[in-house]
Amino acid sequence: MNWNQRISTALQQRKQQHLWRGHACIDGPQGVHVQRDGQPMLNFCANDYLGLAGRHQALQSAAANWGLGSGASHLVCGHSVAHQQLEEALAQHTGYEKALLFSTGYMANIGTIAALVNRGDEIFQDKLNHASLLDGGILSRARMTRYQHNNTEHLASLLQNPAHGHRLIVSDGVFSMDGDTADITQLSALATEYQALLMVDDAHGFGVIGEPHNNSGQGIRAAAGLTSHQLPVYIGTLGKALGGFGAFVAGSAELIDYLVQFARPYIYTTALPAAVAEAMLDNLQLLSNGQLQRQLTNNIQYFRQLASTAQLPLTDSVTPIQPLIIGDNQATLTCSQALAEAGLWVGAIRPPTVAKGSARLRITLSAAHSEGDIRRLVDTLARHWPAKEAV
Ligand SMILES: *Cc1c(COP(=O)(O)O)cnc(C)c1O
Repeated sequence: MNWNQRISTALQQRKQQHLWRGHACIDGPQGVHVQRDGQPMLNFCANDYLGLAGRHQALQSAAANWGLGSGASHLVCGHSVAHQQLEEALAQHTGYEKALLFSTGYMANIGTIAALVNRGDEIFQDKLNHASLLDGGILSRARMTRYQHNNTEHLASLLQNPAHGHRLIVSDGVFSMDGDTADITQLSALATEYQALLMVDDAHGFGVIGEPHNNSGQGIRAAAGLTSHQLPVYIGTLGKALGGFGAFVAGSAELIDYLVQFARPYIYTTALPAAVAEAMLDNLQLLSNGQLQRQLTNNIQYFRQLASTAQLPLTDSVTPIQPLIIGDNQATLTCSQALAEAGLWVGAIRPPTVAKGSARLRITLSAAHSEGDIRRLVDTLARHWPAKEAV
């Protein structure tokens, strides 16, 4: 098979399996109301949980202060006061000694894992961890074992085997396609018992969940009431609830110093634009009174109440990620197309992003949705939900 045949065969297979991926184009800022290829759509698929992605005021004034590019990597001459202040504010907000900015969450994850473990070490990952965590594991060359999703008993049984080198336990905080939450209290206890280091990727928790009685989006560590020593490696991203771009690792001052020395995706890449860092600091300050988190929580509860009345198959998720599992790829696609014709944008998530036979609609809610928006979603879903025999 020559190269052309190999590529076109792979493309044909994708189409036949109903797994073809393509992008729609929006022609204005991200938000609850967008124009998709010219058609107005009510958006239920962004990770813009607090409705901050469309804000431009902070970025406009930051652009006047900093211009466009950062000009170099952090260690050369790209690091600015704006980056510094954002790192300090992120560390304080999440309850850690120090934080380190990365350009994306993907890079933060591969950079941190590959810096921490090497050949001869061992990584334990939840089966449903984000692709970037798995890729970080591969890049590190450490031995990698995946435990059953959210099954700490399975993890404990694996940890009872003789250790190979240093051990790292890695989990998503909030799982991106299911919306359920890792039991980080139990993970932390196992890490302590087996002298492993615990790393949690809180891409979907940071900005959304936080201290039970004072939720300003401090993240899963605060939500679970753990100390920073109990969750020593914390990853947050700025492209989701924070509505912008970028990511960070939070931890002890020593951990951050270590990553500055050894995390290659930190060292060998251009620093995030300083204007973006300054705008992110402004968005971070909008979290502190907890108002947006309260609005989001109300919307999640309202959706679940309506969907339950409409007998849609809700999962246990209490986060803004509310999957409705259909199973069959084609039926999932048909349902999301019917929603689109009614002006509702809901992602159809299929393998390999999720396990075979668990294709689903991934509904995401935002603090910016109105109750009317959510009613419209559930009414339309109830009308177009696939009949049993179609699935
Ligand atoms: C989105 C996501 C990332 C990647 O973050 P980016 O900043 O978009 O690169 C990492 N981990 C999880 C769990 C995510 O959902």
